[in-house]
Amino acid sequence: MSQELQEALNLAGDAVTTDSDGTVRLVGSECGDCNKNVFPPTAVCPECMSENLAPIKLSAEGKLYSWSVVHAAPKGWNLPFIAAYVDLPEEVRVFAHIVDVDPDSLEMEMPVVARIAALGTEESGAPFESYAFTPVQKGNS
Ligand SMILES: [Zn+2]
Repeated sequence: MSQELQEALNLAGDAVTTDSDGTVRLVGSECGDCNKNVFPPTAVCPECMSENLAPIKLSAEGKLYSWSVVHAAPKGWNLPFIAAYVDLPEEVRVFAHIVDVDPDSLEMEMPVVARIAALGTEESGAPFESYAFTPVQKGNS
């Protein structure tokens, strides 16, 4: 799982954008032939093999689908971390970290919102940042 995650996160540089109000949005691919949305962005539609894909900005908010607390991962990751699947309204299931929350307070279908977070440390010692999700604060959304 950690290698998949690392590959997904390595693509994140092209896969995240920030709106003018600071909202972090993931950018996926939308198939022009079958309308399937994909994240991370891809050159070939996994559904119909079309190469007619265009970038699509995904919603900042989604719902927690499943998660797991990870205590062992390659050097450099901040441990433990919460690895999760988040369902976005565009019918995309995104694999991401959940940050700034006690794992015991997580619930199925909990609303979560995208943000940028430090997830680990580069070999140079610099923090490694990528997209992650955090529960939507009640009364603040
Ligand atoms: Zn397609």
